[in-house]
Formats: sequence, structure tokens, C-alpha cells
Amino acid sequence: MRWDLLIKGGRVIDPANGIDDVRDVAISGKVVETVAGNLPADQATTVVDATGKIVTPGFIDLHVHNFVSAGGRPSVDSDTTNLAFGVTTALDAGTATPAQYPHYWETDIASTKVRLYSLVRMPDPYGPDPATVAEVKDLITSYDTLLGVKFHHSQHFTSLPLAREAADFGGGMLMCEAYGAPIPQLLDWMNPGDILTHTFHAAFRFPIFDHRGKVWQHLWDAKERGVYLDIGHGARGFAFRTMEQALEQGLKPDTISTDVHVGNVDGPVYDMPTTMSKMLALGIPISEVIDMSTRIPARALSQERELGSLSAGTVADVVVSRVDEGKFKYLDVLHEVRNADQRIVPETVVYSGQIYDGGRYSPVEMSHQHDAPPDFIVNET
Ligand SMILES: [Zn+2]
Repeated sequence: MRWDLLIKGGRVIDPANGIDDVRDVAISGKVVETVAGNLPADQATTVVDATGKIVTPGFIDLHVHNFVSAGGRPSVDSDTTNLAFGVTTALDAGTATPAQYPHYWETDIASTKVRLYSLVRMPDPYGPDPATVAEVKDLITSYDTLLGVKFHHSQHFTSLPLAREAADFGGGMLMCEAYGAPIPQLLDWMNPGDILTHTFHAAFRFPIFDHRGKVWQHLWDAKERGVYLDIGHGARGFAFRTMEQALEQGLKPDTISTDVHVGNVDGPVYDMPTTMSKMLALGIPISEVIDMSTRIPARALSQERELGSLSAGTVADVVVSRVDEGKFKYLDVLHEVRNADQRIVPETVVYSGQIYDGGRYSPVEMSHQHDAPPDFIVNET
């Protein structure tokens, strides 16, 4: 047989290659061999019929928490919450401290199927000290899965220069939380390639708007110089009204991510495709939503040559999704509702050429949902 896997007849959306058209995707071993029209089905060992569905690169979620072996909050299992929902690559946003990192790598990262990169969190509650900076520098040079530093909102703002210094070592990135400090001062410390997460947050202490309700000029400037404006939905990190106010002024997110953890996996976040569908609800076209979930986050990880596209010779991470039409309600962290007529539902997830056949996390009803409308969205599959 010429190919191990052939995904036939779907609408291929591959922003990195400028493709949005009906195509077939042929996979051999762990790599994409070709994307073309009308490839012969009898030349493939396995054929997936994608007629009427969208076929995209694997989703890349830049904000997850998957340090399960540490026990307790906040982590959720990586494969059943990420891979099962189309996320083939994820970035753990600082769940492990430097002292925990070697254990995290040996246990969780090594045993998960999802391609799991990570940032290290500098210890709470007093923020990093020079000894920690040295420790982080040592780790960044030792582990190719460790890409930089997460600056946590509970840390003292005055320790940000130390986080910056540690992240810069080895060309690492700094991820900051938009509700962690006043936006202008925070962004002063952020460089091209860094990630501002929770950009459209609902914690109004440090709004992304100035006193006139205008997006801070600093935010426009940061985007212009290459700081990624990320969703990072989470339990506090995403409000429809914040994003609507920003969209009215022309400010869009660069990347879509979930910040899925134990506090929101049962709503309102649930998973990556639900978060992506919320962007559809706000009027962002599906081709842009896929771009924000594949090509751009791959670039943020400096992995655009291998990930985030269906280019021939790259890793065969592919998602076949239904786009359901109907009436759907979506909730944000304030339990505000937006209606939408579309929903992205991944059906077949291929990672490194293999179809995922493992478990899928099923959301349970939580007490915090009681004040939510009765028909708010729950994944049925
Ligand atoms: Zn987080």
C-alpha cells in the first residue's frame, strides 16, 4: 500500500498553506505525505471518509495544566481532555515549579501521548529569587520540552525582572497573565514571542481598556512587536463582553487556548473545540479560528516547521471535525450567554499518524452551574 491512512473528501482548512478547499490527506508512518484532490482510496490501508466535515491540522492549546502526578488541583489528565478533543500539542502553563520539573518530565510528560511542552512557574508566594533564576536557567538548557517561564498573578510584580531574566536564558518565552498587573506596566516587560494570556479577562481590576474604554495603546504596540495575545479562557480569563468591546475596536486574539483545569473542565471551558466555537459565536470566521488554533500557536512555540500545518513531510497531526448547525448557547466565566448557530465537534483525531482510540473526559454537573441557564452547552459525545 502506498499510504497508511487516507482522509478523503473533507474541507481541508490549512491556513499555513493557504488551503480552504475539498482535498484528500495522505499519511505514511508519522508524516503527511501529500494533500491533493481525488487520491485513490485503494492505495491506503485505512480510509477515513471526511465528506461534509472539516479537516485541519491538530489543534495547539497554549494554556493547559497537566501535572496530574503532583496530585490535587489544578491538573486534569492530558490525553482525555486534550487529545480526545483534537489537541495534539499543548503547552502546560507553569503547573510545575523548578524543583518539581524533573519529576514532572519523568512522569507526566514522558507518559502522555499529547506533545506536551511546558513553562515553569517560579515559586509562590514571594516570587523568584536569584537562586531560583539560576535553577531555571539550568533546567531550560537541560530539557527541550521546557520553553520558558510563566509569571503567575499571585507573584509580586517587583519580581517580574527576575522572571524575565530567567526566561530570556536560552531564548525562552515569558507568559504573563493579563489580570496580573496594570496592563501598561506589564507589557513594558514583554518581548516579541512572549504570550499574554487571559487577554480578554473578566477580572476588572486591571482592565485592557483605559478610562475612556479604549484598548490600551500599549496592547496594540505589544501585538505589533510580536507579543501573542492569547485567550486562556480558564475560570476568570474570558468574558464575552470584554472581547466584544475589543473586537469593536478591531483588536482580535492571536491564539485560542483553554486554561482547562479542574475548576472549569466541567464548565464553562470544557475543552478546546468549545472554546473555538465561542469565537465563532463572536463572529470570527472559521478559517481564522483554525488559524488561531494551529498555525499561529505553532509559531508561538517556534515549531512552525513541524507543527500547525498539513505540509508534506511534517508530523501527521490531523483533526476531522463536524461543524454542527443548530442553536447553541455558550457561557463565559461571568455566566453570560451568547447564542451561536455552529459548533465544532472533533470526530477523528490523528496524532503522529495514529488515530486516537483512548478515552474522552465526560463533564459532570457542578454546583456552580446552578445559576446557569438550563440549556447551556454540554458536550454530548
Ligand atoms: Zn492557567
